[in-house]
Amino acid sequence: ALPPHPLAVKTTCAYCGVGCGILASPDGRGGASIAGDPAHPANFGRLCSKGSALGETLGLETRLLHPMLRDDDGALKRASWDVALGAVADGFARVIAEHGPDSVAFYLSGQLLTEDYYVANKLMKGFIGSANVDTNSRLCMASSVAGHRRAFGADVVPGSYADLDEADLVVLVGSNAAWCHPVLYQRMLANKRARGTKIVVIDPRRTESVEADDLFLGLAPGMDVALFSGLLVHLADTLALDYGYIDAHTANLTEALVRAREIAPDIAATARAAGLAESDVEIFFALFRNTPKVVTCFSQGVNQSAQGTDKVNAIINCHLATGRIGKPGMGPFSLTGQPNAMGGREVGGLANQLAAQMDFTPDNIDRVGRFWRASQMAQRDGLKAVQLFEAIARGEIKALWVMATNPAVSLPRAGTMREALRQLELLVISENVAGNDTLDAKPHVLLPAAAWGEKDGTVTNSERRISRQRAFLPLPGEARPDWWIVAQVALRMGFSHPFNYQSAAEIFREHAALSAFENDGDRAFDIGALAALSDEAFNAMEPVQWPARAGEAIGEPRLFAEGGFFTADRRALLIAPEKPSPHEALSAEFPFRLNTGRVRDQWHSMTRSGLSPRLAAHRPEPFVELHKNDVANLGLVDGGLARVTTAHGSVILKVVVSDGQRPGSLFAPIHWSDAAASSARVGDLVAAITDPLSGQPEAKATPAAIAPV
Ligand code: SF4
Repeated sequence: ALPPHPLAVKTTCAYCGVGCGILASPDGRGGASIAGDPAHPANFGRLCSKGSALGETLGLETRLLHPMLRDDDGALKRASWDVALGAVADGFARVIAEHGPDSVAFYLSGQLLTEDYYVANKLMKGFIGSANVDTNSRLCMASSVAGHRRAFGADVVPGSYADLDEADLVVLVGSNAAWCHPVLYQRMLANKRARGTKIVVIDPRRTESVEADDLFLGLAPGMDVALFSGLLVHLADTLALDYGYIDAHTANLTEALVRAREIAPDIAATARAAGLAESDVEIFFALFRNTPKVVTCFSQGVNQSAQGTDKVNAIINCHLATGRIGKPGMGPFSLTGQPNAMGGREVGGLANQLAAQMDFTPDNIDRVGRFWRASQMAQRDGLKAVQLFEAIARGEIKALWVMATNPAVSLPRAGTMREALRQLELLVISENVAGNDTLDAKPHVLLPAAAWGEKDGTVTNSERRISRQRAFLPLPGEARPDWWIVAQVALRMGFSHPFNYQSAAEIFREHAALSAFENDGDRAFDIGALAALSDEAFNAMEPVQWPARAGEAIGEPRLFAEGGFFTADRRALLIAPEKPSPHEALSAEFPFRLNTGRVRDQWHSMTRSGLSPRLAAHRPEPFVELHKNDVANLGLVDGGLARVTTAHGSVILKVVVSDGQRPGSLFAPIHWSDAAASSARVGDLVAAITDPLSGQPEAKATPAAIAPV
């Protein structure tokens, strides 16, 4: 590759929540060469295979380039922006007038920029008067949000990536970081080699994140709460709790410990419940007990669960009770899936948040309403993703706007959800691409959105670091930024002044000002120091961690070493979790557990990553992994075809024998769809069971059957 051009544009990767800085050098022919930004603190110049292949995905062959409108004969025809935007505004206004504000909804995406998210959220929650705005981040990390809020009183990741450089023990729970957060994983390995950092991997699968000298705990699916309850009990019984920190800064230890003892009273009981060898549990517990500097990273194996919030809190409990939080090399650490799931959380992109991480209390509704000069504020939580699509299926939601996501592939029971979309009176889709499974649901209006490299704004990564995404290519065809599209619809709905935005910088300033509005330090999310950035300063903005309060030093790498939580009494709450048990029992008909996830070189439904031949070569076909004993017992053949069936659907996949797979379990990646060359929508198979607090669906434990084809 050529070295980056001296005038290369600094931007941020389009893919995962590591949020790597990128130098993009346009070639003048619509493409660009891509290099890691050595100055970006998330990656210091490193990129993984997906990030470094971004230059191969910039072609316009698959792009949606013009607004399209469905005519009376059912055909999609090209339309002007004015006509298309008018159709959206009139359509929403008509449905609201006939059925009320709660009959409409927006479904957003962790691929949107913070400014896009902000404007969509403002329109729905402040002017339409409904909170039916949810996002595909609900499928990704809502359990971490709920767990943080329960424990800390706010959705805050306490530490930074720099803590990985100081930790002596890194515990990976439900995280195949080697494939899903590769640049961070390489940082862990570099520390292991340089400093001897120990790594423990806790996962039902032995994944690529386990090296020969790591401790691997192949726990039974869904038993994370048992393991971390056992750890809390062990730490208490070996006098390893930090009562100074507990007494000064936390509450509810007694209740949490009583429940932990009921779940896992000793090492033997923990090992039985978690499906582990006692000796391995002993080694892990001793490592945690004897290593002050521990970072516990967790990801989708924890979040995507019917007990995801309890899993998050069981992990956080162990850090709070030992004071291992907010200090160098210590803390629980949620690894974000998407590039801007965090930014969406900050503006209120989740249906149970209002804006600037405020929830729906009367004070907050009043505060945000005054700030926005809102015409009609939502008064209560809206519908979370799975509930939202079920409400569409029941005919209660009649108009939906989908932005930058492909729910017909990614939602549980994806096929049923796609059929539900066909019933809508109005389906609007803003998209980069001209074809995907959700577009098969016959949208009434299609709006061409700007893509990565063409749009301008901010994203926030897993360590609370806000970075700029900058445009380095011209807008192709008639594509426009998502914030512009939403604002234009709002203007046509009659909400003129509050949506008269001219730039992403203007929206960011408003978002920053709202975060600081009547915020006396009692709300965690505050970036008031950035509210007065000029357009030039916004353009030049360096990556910055929040909180960034006006008048204070900007960028706090660690929080809570001295308490200061965001609960009413400023104490963190230890949580007594429910006893873990699989939500759906196995049966003679469905004797396997189906776990779904990602492969290294693809992203979501492949609409971008699938354009790179280099990335496609890594795993070219959809597959299912299972243990060699299961393959032999079922008459399957490695490399042959098998039909995987659940109560919800069935797909044919290539059989891959994997030593890392537990007997009785299946793993299938989520990426392929009807629109891909090989059809295999694994989302069709997944049950729509959700965590009662976070609303996040269980994507790791659907009962399934497998048979040769
Ligand atoms: Fe992009 Fe994530 Fe890879 Fe970094 S680790 S280059 S953010 S996909």
